[in-house]
Amino acid sequence: MKFNTKTIHGGQEHEEATGAVMPPIFQTSTYAQSSPGVNKGYAYSRAANPTRTALEKAFAALENGTHGFAFSSGLASIDCVLRTLKPGDEVIAGDDIYGGSYRLFTRLFQKNGLKFQFVDMDDASNVTNAISESTKLIWIETPTNPLMKIADIEEITKAVKNKRADILVAVDNTFATPYLQRPLDLGVDIVMHSATKYLGGHSDLVMGALMVKDAQLAEELHFIQFAAGAIAGPMDSFLALRGVKTLHLRMQRHCENGKAVAEYLVNHPKVGEVFYPGLESHPSYEIAKKQMDDFGGMVSFRLKDESKQAALTFLENTKIFTLAESLGGVESLVSHPVTMTHASIPEAERLKIGITDSLIRLSVGVEDIDDLLVDLEQALNR
Ligand SMILES: *Cc1c(COP(=O)(O)O)cnc(C)c1O
Repeated sequence: MKFNTKTIHGGQEHEEATGAVMPPIFQTSTYAQSSPGVNKGYAYSRAANPTRTALEKAFAALENGTHGFAFSSGLASIDCVLRTLKPGDEVIAGDDIYGGSYRLFTRLFQKNGLKFQFVDMDDASNVTNAISESTKLIWIETPTNPLMKIADIEEITKAVKNKRADILVAVDNTFATPYLQRPLDLGVDIVMHSATKYLGGHSDLVMGALMVKDAQLAEELHFIQFAAGAIAGPMDSFLALRGVKTLHLRMQRHCENGKAVAEYLVNHPKVGEVFYPGLESHPSYEIAKKQMDDFGGMVSFRLKDESKQAALTFLENTKIFTLAESLGGVESLVSHPVTMTHASIPEAERLKIGITDSLIRLSVGVEDIDDLLVDLEQALNR
């Protein structure tokens, strides 16, 4: 089945009792048993719920996995992965990962004895050089947020597995989505998503996802999901399933609009550096072209005027681009990493990786491109 069919039919069956084409919202916590322990496959909704099961099958299909898991948030899904580790184990992560992932790693798991190293994943040897006896997990994000850095998933995974086959490799695939990039096909063990973003696609829910292709790993993750309990509810599962059915249509437009916005910004006299993996000037353009089918709808840029005031003036004056946290919905959003998504990263750390006052991040939506460019133009000219 091709991807554009899979978004609609992957892992999906019509509901058995009525033939309902969309799975009903099974808003129930528990299920009648005919005799103690005898049930129809469902006993309690923390373990499994039919609406969530339908979504989890769709999640697995999208990433060419065998098992999918839906969580109450993206961070809850990352938390589940980290719970497979024990005190003393070491994680190697990218140095430009999502601020909330960094916070979860350093503020919660570090104090419980996990060790973290943050390396520049532009170069696979930075990862292999950091591997020690205790390394158990590699955490890759590509493209990164907000600087759109690209890690070579296949090269890093091969190098890591060559050195130690038992190290797990996980990819946060939130920015690219499986429409653009399928890490399990490149040898990765775990794919993670903030389904809050493109998979849901409508800014109407908060959800996380994990996808894997190994039965034993799936069993371990399911046990943690069940035992710790950060599951997605049936209503949100229904909404996310509805969302993924148009993923390919939305992504196609996100990519077209993202490219047009990036090209417009590159040529604008008030704009400095533009970060978009689809620009030939992007330092990792060739890797992006190799591992992604297109380049997505996330674009970051710096204003030439490097004052914080210039950035604030721009941010306060866009009309169609809404100033808000988050990304990946049908509507265009604009954000200021320094004061919003990356406020939890210490200033020295931030500056070291290039997150400056003049940096602005756009989540380019699926509106008419003419209206988006007019909006950017009027805000840049304030
Ligand atoms: C939003 C986001 C997360 C966290 O997901 P939540 O659903 O907000 O918990 C993780 N990684 C990336 C890349 C994100 O954009």
